[in-house]
Amino acid sequence: MTSDKLAFIQAEMDNLRESNLLITIRTMGSPADAWMIVDGRRVLNFCTNNYLGLANHPRLKEAAKAAIDRWGVGPAAVRSIAGTQALHLELERRLAAFKGVEDALYVQSGFCANQAAIPPLVGKEDVIFSDRLNHASIIDGARLSGAKIIIYEHCDPADLEAKIREHLPGYRRGLMVTDGVFSMDGDIAPLDKLMEVADRYGVLTMVDDAHGEGVLGRGGRGIVDHFGLHGKFDVEIGTLSKAFGVVGGVIAGKKTIVDYIRQKARPFLFSSAVTPADTAACLAAVDLLEESEALVRKLWDNAACFRAEMQRLGFDTGRSQTPIVPVMLGDAGLAKQFSRELFEAGVFAMSIGFPTVPRGQARIRVMNTAAHSRDDLAQGLDAFAKVGKKLGVI
Ligand SMILES: *Cc1c(COP(=O)(O)O)cnc(C)c1O
Repeated sequence: MTSDKLAFIQAEMDNLRESNLLITIRTMGSPADAWMIVDGRRVLNFCTNNYLGLANHPRLKEAAKAAIDRWGVGPAAVRSIAGTQALHLELERRLAAFKGVEDALYVQSGFCANQAAIPPLVGKEDVIFSDRLNHASIIDGARLSGAKIIIYEHCDPADLEAKIREHLPGYRRGLMVTDGVFSMDGDIAPLDKLMEVADRYGVLTMVDDAHGEGVLGRGGRGIVDHFGLHGKFDVEIGTLSKAFGVVGGVIAGKKTIVDYIRQKARPFLFSSAVTPADTAACLAAVDLLEESEALVRKLWDNAACFRAEMQRLGFDTGRSQTPIVPVMLGDAGLAKQFSRELFEAGVFAMSIGFPTVPRGQARIRVMNTAAHSRDDLAQGLDAFAKVGKKLGVI
């Protein structure tokens, strides 16, 4: 019977629905900004990764429009054949200078950057030491490499060392990989300590700084800058889709490594280059970040204010040390209901459950940005307080 072929889908969908894990996807009717039209309603937005408010910034939009006139809309080739435009190289030079690294490679997305960077560095004879809470794109990049994956406990250099001592001798070489800022908790990896351990055993070091790029370090120069590890860390993965407000991924670090990845990375060799408009908008974002630290400062001021007020109201903000502020609720059903009630109150903040976070650790995740005014924050806090009291959370 042909319909039986699809019965597994119905069963899994029913299962997701019953466990409150079915995702509902809302539709944006306006650009990413502090306020947005979501499913036809104007709401205060705490969901996008638009940390510096650049996604709808006039300077970036102008740069994108001018690039279309000068360069057209698509490169029509992969980077290694005919898709490398002068704009791409200019962005790579500027990103390397901004971050204080020898070289940088611009790829289609942060997700792609992990698929591009990990498999050339390790293979079947090697071992990857990966933080328990690493992002899905790191996990998939690691799996794609065919290397043995050993999980170490979250942000735990002592456990990393124990795992290296136990497993490294059985393999040709090792790679340690961690998120810089953990996207669901907003905590920061102890990169200096992790690097010290990895270096002691000759293990390669990689950090995915998607949520630290444009956020951490001097003027948003990222986690390696935050810890002052310039020239010591092997590979930094970043994204231009979050704080930079556009799209694309970056692989930055020692020239030897970036040159090698350029030769080997399959997403770079077999998938077309990023468009001129996006590349030019990224360049405009680098210009803005180099001109002033004001946006980065405003982002951190807003985040500190929001987190402190949430804690004062009695909410559990978990391990947050950055503009990502989780509101820990535990039960997935409660988190979904909390998000729905917030939306009714004019505030857009998503609930996040399994498999994005462990079972029983469902939460609302609040993304603070420099685009929010203090009035916006006050309105947001007011809505959280009302819904929190109504649902018996505070
Ligand atoms: C968001 C994120 C990515 C994906 O970046 P995109 O540019 O959106 O593909 C990769 N890694 C981490 C750690 C992230 O948080």
